[in-house]
Amino acid sequence: MTFCQKFKFYTIKTIDQLPQYKLLSDETKQSIQVVGHVLPFRVNNYVAEKLINWQDLENDPIFKLTFMQKDMLSEHHYEKMNEAIENKLNTPSDIQGIASEIRAELNPHPANQLEANVPSLNNFAIPGLQHKYRETALVFPSQGQQCHSYCTFCFRWAQFVGDPSLKFATDQAKSFVAYLREHKEITDVLITGGDPMFMNAKTLALYVEPLLEKEMSHIQNIRIGSKSLSFWPRKYVNEPDTPNILALFKKIVDSGKHLAFMAHVNHWKEINTEVCHQAIENIRQTGAQIRTQSPVLKHINDDPEVWIKMWSEQVRLGMIPYYMFVERDTGPKHYFGLSLERALEIYQLAIRNVSGLARTVRGPSMSTTVGKVCVESISKINDEKIFVLSFLQARNPELVKTSFFAKYDPSAQWLDDLRPAFGEEFPHI
Ligand SMILES: *Cc1c(COP(=O)(O)O)cnc(C)c1O
Repeated sequence: MTFCQKFKFYTIKTIDQLPQYKLLSDETKQSIQVVGHVLPFRVNNYVAEKLINWQDLENDPIFKLTFMQKDMLSEHHYEKMNEAIENKLNTPSDIQGIASEIRAELNPHPANQLEANVPSLNNFAIPGLQHKYRETALVFPSQGQQCHSYCTFCFRWAQFVGDPSLKFATDQAKSFVAYLREHKEITDVLITGGDPMFMNAKTLALYVEPLLEKEMSHIQNIRIGSKSLSFWPRKYVNEPDTPNILALFKKIVDSGKHLAFMAHVNHWKEINTEVCHQAIENIRQTGAQIRTQSPVLKHINDDPEVWIKMWSEQVRLGMIPYYMFVERDTGPKHYFGLSLERALEIYQLAIRNVSGLARTVRGPSMSTTVGKVCVESISKINDEKIFVLSFLQARNPELVKTSFFAKYDPSAQWLDDLRPAFGEEFPHI
């Protein structure tokens, strides 16, 4: 088996060193430069060499997943940044200032995450922790606030653009551990980012090992959210740190807790390589389970056939499809966004054509301030066409698995665009 070389990544400043970059037209290069000064850009050698088909970029989902496209900024923002870059009188800090202004207009923290879900202990906010749903806490390790490659749609984009006020991350003292010890209602810890699997085994262990202590017996399930399985599978196959990573996974499983590797996979092409198949096998060998999730995105996977093939392949390879999300209202939402009606149609057409084993996947789901809202169906009650919505997860646990109704609106892309049906109100927090 031949696997790719050592990890190398390219940023907006070094992208011209990527061998394939010279295949791009001047126009494409300019778009990458302009948009890449606003939204975070990073691509690695594996994604560039193994996942992108450079002969057909027009139709390549992985290219659009990792390389900026002109339409990812509004015309107005694009022109503003283009002028800033072209105007040679501008200093780098002028360009930074303009980038910050544009970012602020792109709703960097949807659903008010920066304030709404950060818990406190003895009246101090715990940095790098989010506790929104009773049984699950999210940990954002400070060393895991980057990824092997950045996805252009990522709702966490603000984490990567260097403005500290836009970041979540744990502190040196790891005060999250004290919080988790005290909160016995928490059964699940989701280590997230960025990508926690950007960390090496030694650093990851600093976050995992406290969870295995005796006072943490209420923590039953550890989840690790990661894109690395598809964007840097070699991590689980043949890097010097591979045995340590796999041993750490095994240690979690041997401690009696469940380890769920939450793999972000947006397209079946990401899980179609030999090295990825080996990585899946090696992770499963540790006793961890791999569950998968992805938003449904225009230009990337807005086709039921893509989902049918993706979920079928995942099940065949031993993974469990978990969530289909609706793209959040942040960053380049206008580029990736789909109507709720279309998202539902894609989900329905796909789910009807896969094995029952793949129908574990729930969605399309919107992560709103109140909870995860699933678009269940479009229906008609008393001659009124409506969306049937339900809570998959909710800040108020009483709302889980309850339904509510919205007036049918073919253009709505998010809960905020919908109006309640039958003169009722939407559930509140
Ligand atoms: C989705 C999510 C969870 C996990 O919810 P599950 O239903 O257990 O998968 C936890 N916290 C936040 C903030 C989430 O968005």
